[in-house]
Amino acid sequence: MNRIPVIIFLGVPGAGKGTQALRLSNEKGIPRISTGDMLRQAVQDDSPLGRMVQAIMKDGRLVDDETMLKLVQDRILRPDCRNGFILDGYPRNMQQAGQFERILQPHMDVRVVKIEVAEEDIVKRIAGRRTCPKCERIYNIYFHPPGKDELCDADQTPLFRRDDDLEDVVRRRIETYQRETRPLIDYYGSKQVLQLVNGSQNSNLVADQILRAVDLN
Ligand code: ADP
Repeated sequence: MNRIPVIIFLGVPGAGKGTQALRLSNEKGIPRISTGDMLRQAVQDDSPLGRMVQAIMKDGRLVDDETMLKLVQDRILRPDCRNGFILDGYPRNMQQAGQFERILQPHMDVRVVKIEVAEEDIVKRIAGRRTCPKCERIYNIYFHPPGKDELCDADQTPLFRRDDDLEDVVRRRIETYQRETRPLIDYYGSKQVLQLVNGSQNSNLVADQILRAVDLN
């Protein structure tokens, strides 16, 4: 059986995981699965899941591991994942990494990309971040502004700022990352599936480096 790539993005909030995961997804024709986007959609739809996670997300805390496992498990069974997929936001702690490993199929080839960014860049990146609710394109009013006001270049939809991108919540999300997610770097490093990419350079260079790191054809 052909091996299929499972690409996991790691990096502190604001490192550029979402932007780069979308680029890689378009380039390679495999889906980007953003657990943050899935949860935000659930909140917007006011579904039972959305009602359960809304307050947790607003606080910058993590949703429980069982809920996340179920969400990801259902998603990767969908047919668009049959040639591989990109995970953006999962796994996010050691427990999730262990649970995820147990649902992997033998022909799945895990590669982990960690995007590294200097801490001083992070706040500006997050404070300037704007997203198109329609096509999910990500902009930054400082570094990558849309052509006109705060409208999406592709479909003219007004861009929005995430509730959890406000400064004190960002700080909490960074703390959560340091405590819960950072241990995954050593974990995947010891499995020799980890690649480090310099996320402080221009976005095109980051994208090139990621392409080489995941070595997909
Ligand atoms: P970030 O920019 O912090 O990486 P995301 O869009 O990935 O933001 O996630 C936003 C929020 O969604 C998180 O702060 C958390 O509450 C929740 N979330 C997303 N993925 C997970 C996960 N794998 N486990 C637990 N909570 C998650």
